Amino acid sequence: MKLYYDNNKLKIPKPTCSCTHHQVINSDIYIGSDILKNLPLYISKKISGKKCLLVTDNNLFTLYGNQILPILTKDYDVKLAIPSVEGHLQPNQYALGDIMMALDDDCDFLIAFGSGTINDLTRYVAFNCNLPFISVGTAPSMDGYLSVVAPMLSDDLKINKPAKYPIVCVFDIDIMRKAPDDMIFAGFGDVIGKYIAKADWILGNIINNERICPFCLDIIDEAISLCETNILEIKNKTEKGIKALLEALLLTGLAMLLNGDSRPAASNEHNMGHFIEMKKLTAKQPHPSHGEAVGVATLYCLDLYQLFFNYDFTSISVSKIVLNQPSPLHREQAILKAYGQTIGPSIIKNNVDEPITKDEQERRISVFLKQYDTIKENLSFLPTRSKMTKFYKELNGAINAKELAIDKSLLTGALLYAKDYRSRYTIFKLADELGILHKLVNHMVQYE
Ligand SMILES: [Zn+2]
Ligand SMILES: [Zn+2]
Repeated sequence: MKLYYDNNKLKIPKPTCSCTHHQVINSDIYIGSDILKNLPLYISKKISGKKCLLVTDNNLFTLYGNQILPILTKDYDVKLAIPSVEGHLQPNQYALGDIMMALDDDCDFLIAFGSGTINDLTRYVAFNCNLPFISVGTAPSMDGYLSVVAPMLSDDLKINKPAKYPIVCVFDIDIMRKAPDDMIFAGFGDVIGKYIAKADWILGNIINNERICPFCLDIIDEAISLCETNILEIKNKTEKGIKALLEALLLTGLAMLLNGDSRPAASNEHNMGHFIEMKKLTAKQPHPSHGEAVGVATLYCLDLYQLFFNYDFTSISVSKIVLNQPSPLHREQAILKAYGQTIGPSIIKNNVDEPITKDEQERRISVFLKQYDTIKENLSFLPTRSKMTKFYKELNGAINAKELAIDKSLLTGALLYAKDYRSRYTIFKLADELGILHKLVNHMVQYE
């Protein structure tokens, strides 16, 4: 899958599959060097209004305020929204309140100038106020530029709120190249996480007959390959490297938009990232960025896949496994203990299709045993942890939980209970339904 451009405007790849559920994506995406100056032109092709709210943070405004404001104010009436925060900006009610208070009744559109949090806040406000928004990205640090959900924080619980994607996206590579190293690694980690998302999706398709899209799988392959084949360019933050990383992130965003959900790009590695973030927030401790957490969680998910396929399933007794499955009450207590009393009840409430019945468990296990060879073969694309670790080292990224200040108990909690964050099917759920998850996780964390 080769990407094409017309004057820095990305030609969005058209699905070649026979799926009937894909939607048409109405967004102009511009990528190139020194293109920030074209922002008014790009906006005018989609929006006729002249009043806008520019949402950004203090740090970015200090760095780029005197660059972006003169470009915009020539053609537009610009009002600023910079959430006032102590420390790290979070997508919570305080930041939202600041943006809402800055929003005038006659505002025509919003501009998000930033990366993850700024875009999530803006897309949520844009959705609720029914206004279009423009994204001017500042770092290739996450895959959510085109997202239609905004992960927000409500009392330390990470919840996905409905939102909208930007009608125009502008990525000036000269700005992106100046993003700090840890944000570059975060973007890389977010893309590498797609290995797990893809594997779990294929697993869900085989075991539960989940809908799967071959075109989205191709997009994910292309995204991963763009990152892996440009590792040194990404490390050196060359124009080519940063463009490749950004394309990879946008491609996975497109796959999510096409599929109508995040299934092509997020699975247990993302659940683990959310679990770690929420637990750190409740403990009032700093947490790793989204992409860093996802990147490191991916290494442990790769470990689990490897251990799983080394396990000897020849003599397992299905009736014994089903009999030993913890009761729904037991399960609920374990989730409440792992997530805590603030977050735990919402996790249980939000996943109505769990726990599964004993009949369903038996059905899944029997499909797994019957399809074991097919599953193993279909998932043979998964790399080893050591191959990925080499990439991470090139980018000076964290290669284990400890390097992100995640201790053994938090890691163990994430490995055992992140799967319950949502009902989406994963290898962790399968291992749990087979009654071997605790055993495999204990084996994984013994040297942590
Ligand atoms: Zn992500
Ligand atoms: Zn499709």
